[in-house]
Amino acid sequence: MAKKALIVTGKNSSKVNGGALKDVTDVLGGELSVSYEIFDKVVENPPVDNVVEGGLAGLDCDFIVGIGGGSPIDAAKAIGVLIKNGTENAYEKLYESKGLKSIPIIAIPTTAGTGTETTPYAILTDHKNETKRNYSPRVFPEYALMDVRYFLYMPLHVRNNTCIDALTHLIESYMTVNATPPYCEYIALEGIRMWGGTVKEALKDETMSKEAMTVFMNASSLAGMAISQTGTSLPHGMGYPLTYYNKIAHGLANGVVMKAYLEMCKDEEKVSKIVDNLGFDSLEQFGGFLQSIIGTLDITEDEIDKYSESLMANAGKLKNHPDPVTLDDIKTIYRKAVKGGVTI
Ligand code: NAP
Ligand code: ZN
Repeated sequence: MAKKALIVTGKNSSKVNGGALKDVTDVLGGELSVSYEIFDKVVENPPVDNVVEGGLAGLDCDFIVGIGGGSPIDAAKAIGVLIKNGTENAYEKLYESKGLKSIPIIAIPTTAGTGTETTPYAILTDHKNETKRNYSPRVFPEYALMDVRYFLYMPLHVRNNTCIDALTHLIESYMTVNATPPYCEYIALEGIRMWGGTVKEALKDETMSKEAMTVFMNASSLAGMAISQTGTSLPHGMGYPLTYYNKIAHGLANGVVMKAYLEMCKDEEKVSKIVDNLGFDSLEQFGGFLQSIIGTLDITEDEIDKYSESLMANAGKLKNHPDPVTLDDIKTIYRKAVKGGVTI
């Protein structure tokens, strides 16, 4: 029988988004009579220091309830590893050790998009390497409890960002070398179909209906299952520096290079399938749609050089792409995102 829970959440949203935090404390403190500690200091794109603070707050806890968007749930996974293995030398434990386990995690997402409730990943800000990067352990939440009520409170900018994040997970998963048929391909394509139907239509409105949000929530979780098997690819690797240095939200940072990335992909049949299943007539039309949501990208040639080199050092992302990739390929994608398909 669990004795004490650590609730890991962000500063504010779980207190106001339809009662996510209160629902959990009511159940723990009420019928379950389980004591708990609340760590409500997770910042967006959490760095290692933030996670260590959470670990120190919960050293005597034996399971974690993570409530929030990708940032608090990823933080919960990393905090779980530190509680299990000690908070000293946290950077080495999180980034350089293999196979470390966590105390059990229950994930309660309040944004749809990252799919972190169904993935073993935790993306932390790595100030040492000036980027965002997945940690080394692989921790799947034991349970994911999903209630669409909480998602309805997402502000428009968060919803648009997370919608694009889910879409990029689906597309990148489908295009990776790891997307073996039938399961991986099927999951990704099914998510793309769901996104291209209900979700795409609902994005045109400021508020999303509960029905549309439910489809979005499920497409996002499917996307998480897809990338759990295949990983993500070049757009995610190219988006990390845009988030680290230019403060572009995670999903938009991947989405802004998506059209140019697909133009570079050699498997035209797969690219056509994506465009068809999204319900667009052409890649051009898809690019225009993305642009209408994301707006424009404004980075310098020097930044393009630096970010392209950073991607070329990211062996994990390069190996997921089916073809050899050169530094010039990556620079071309960034330049097109600035000048062409999606300009700022
Ligand atoms: P987030 O960084 O968790 O939250 C963004 C903002 O939305 C915060 O201000 C948050 O407020 C607010 N918010 C969250 N839920 C809300 C709700 N229901 N109503 C109103 N406001 C709400 O955003 P995210 O896009 O979900 O997560 C992004 C992170 O996930 C990035 O670090 C990204 O790298 C990571 N990610 C992880 C995976 C994975 O597999 N592990 C996959 C993709 C992305 P509070 O701070 O007050 O809570
Ligand atoms: Zn993502």
